Amino acid sequence: MKNKLTLILLLIFSISLFGCSSQAAPYSPESFYMGTVINQKVYGKNAKKAGDLVIDRMKEIEASMTINTPGGEINPLNDAAGLNPVPVSPSVMFLLNKSKEYGELSQGAFDVTIGPLVKEWGIFTDNPKIPSSDKINELLKLVDYKTLLIDTMNNTAMLPMKGQIVDLGGIAKGYAGNEAIRIYKENEITSGFINLGGNVVVLGTKPDGALWNIGVQNPRDVNGKIIGKLAVKDTAIVSSGDYERFFEKDGVRYHHILDPKTGSPSKSDLIGVTIVVDSTIVTDSSTDGDALSTSVFVLGLDKGRQLVESLKGVNAVFITEDKKVYVTSGLKDKFTFDDESKVYQYVQ
Ligand code: ADP
Ligand code: MG
Repeated sequence: MKNKLTLILLLIFSISLFGCSSQAAPYSPESFYMGTVINQKVYGKNAKKAGDLVIDRMKEIEASMTINTPGGEINPLNDAAGLNPVPVSPSVMFLLNKSKEYGELSQGAFDVTIGPLVKEWGIFTDNPKIPSSDKINELLKLVDYKTLLIDTMNNTAMLPMKGQIVDLGGIAKGYAGNEAIRIYKENEITSGFINLGGNVVVLGTKPDGALWNIGVQNPRDVNGKIIGKLAVKDTAIVSSGDYERFFEKDGVRYHHILDPKTGSPSKSDLIGVTIVVDSTIVTDSSTDGDALSTSVFVLGLDKGRQLVESLKGVNAVFITEDKKVYVTSGLKDKFTFDDESKVYQYVQ
C-alpha cells in the first residue's frame, strides 16, 4: 500500500516536473536597437546565452549599418560617393546584393539609394519638412539602385555619384531577425520568438507544440489593437505601413516610405501590409519579408498581390485605405480576421 502510494506520488511528481520543464517561462530580454524595441522569447536550456548573444549581434548590426550616427560601414560608403570604392563586410555585401535584387523584383519600388530623399524629408528628425518639387526632382537624379556598384571579387561597393546615399532602413531589421534565428539554432534552441518593432520571426512552435499567435496591427489604432491573427510556426511576419513614422501637415499624412518614382511618401491604396514568409521554404525569410513589405507597400494592392503570388513560400495580408482586408490564398487557414474596431471588412 505504502509502495503504491509512493509510486503514485512519484508519478505525479514526475508529471508535474515534465509539465513544468516544457511550460517553463521563456527568457524574455528587451533591448533597443535600430530605432526599435526588440523583444525576444527564448525557450530551452541555452535560452539565456542565446538571447544575450542575439542582443550583442543586434548591437553590431546597428553599429555597422546605421546612417543616423557616425561610424560603421554604410557611412564610409556614402562619404565616398562619387570618389572611390570602399571595403564592406560579408553581411553588408549580402544586404546590398539583396537590395538590388529586390529593386529588380519590385521594378524600382524598393530602392536602397533612396537616402538623399529620406534625409531631405527629415521624417526621422524633430524637424520634418515638405521639400520643394525642384529639390525633390534634383535629388531624384541620385536615386537609382542600378548605379550601386558591387565588386564581389574585391568585397567593395561604390556609389558613382556625389551625394548618393544608401539607406538600409527598409531591409536591415529583417536581416537582424534572420540573424537572431541563426543564433538560436546555433545554440540548439528549437523554440523562439523575436519582434523587432513589427518585424516578427518565430522559430519552431511554442514549446508545447502549439502554433504562435501573431497579431496583425490595426494601422489606424496603434495602441496594440489588432485586425486579425496569424497562427504560424517557422515563419517571418513583416509589416510596413504609413503608421510607423509620419508627420501631419494641413491634414495630410507624410509617412516614411517613399515612392522612388515621385520622391514623396508613397500614395498607393494600402495603409498597411504584412508579409508572411515560410522559413522552411525561403532561407532568408525575414530579410526577404522586410524588402517585400516595403516594396508591396509602395506597389499597392494589385501589383503587390501579383508580386507576392509569384513567390514561393510568401503570402500577405493587405489592408487598404477603404478599410478592406485581403489575404493571399496560402493564408486562408492561418489568418483569423478579428477586427476589434469593427471598421474593417474582410474580403474573402
Ligand atoms: P519600418 O522600418 O517601419 O519597419 P520599412 O521596412 O518599410 O518600415 O522601411 C522603411 C524605411 O526604409 C524608411 O524609414 C527608409 O529608411 C527606407 N525606405 C523608404 N522608402 C524606401 C523605398 N522605396 N525603398 C527602400 N527603402 C525605403
Ligand atoms: Mg521593409
